[in-house]
Amino acid sequence: MTQDPRPAPFFIGESPALDVLNSVAMPRSVLYDWLDTPADLLDWLVAAGLAQDHEVAPFRTDPATPELAQAHQDIRAFRERFRAFIEGVSGRELTQADMGHPMIGEINAILMRGTRFLQIEATAEPDATRPLSLADRHPITTPGDLIVRLATVAARLITEANFHYVRNCEGPSCTLYFLDISKNHKRRWCAMEVCGNRAKAAAYRNR
Ligand SMILES: [Zn+2]
Repeated sequence: MTQDPRPAPFFIGESPALDVLNSVAMPRSVLYDWLDTPADLLDWLVAAGLAQDHEVAPFRTDPATPELAQAHQDIRAFRERFRAFIEGVSGRELTQADMGHPMIGEINAILMRGTRFLQIEATAEPDATRPLSLADRHPITTPGDLIVRLATVAARLITEANFHYVRNCEGPSCTLYFLDISKNHKRRWCAMEVCGNRAKAAAYRNR
């Protein structure tokens, strides 16, 4: 087995939808793509918490299947269209006029495809008041269902986040996005150890 030369993927976005964009990054002047191959995609979805290992396990046995190759291609294309959307709307609040953006239509169309049903289940951490709860299930039965998980988190971001606080890291060549959920909304960096310290060092040299 060859060792993966990539560092661990970035999960710094405070939203899996933004971390999808962060699955391409250039942390140290080398460009990495954590969705490079269909197998990478499955690994990333599990690492991001968007799929369980047992859900994607059937696709791992044959990573060369055309359905998985198609899903991989569709998700990479979705990622870049979603990036263009986020670039256009970050830093301001969304309005109902944004419903006219083709990305909203695309996400809605993907969400319509997904199988979805409710199930009663035992609450994971049962308390006296609610030992049973209602679980919202979107099973993954084919590789084509994988993109539904991405569309779901994208839809959550669009409907729940204040886009005023969706930002690009201030690192000069950094492309990473995050939702600034800090109390004072003063977050500037993807991660202190990636861009923050570098900016501090540069400021120190300039003094
Ligand atoms: Zn950065």
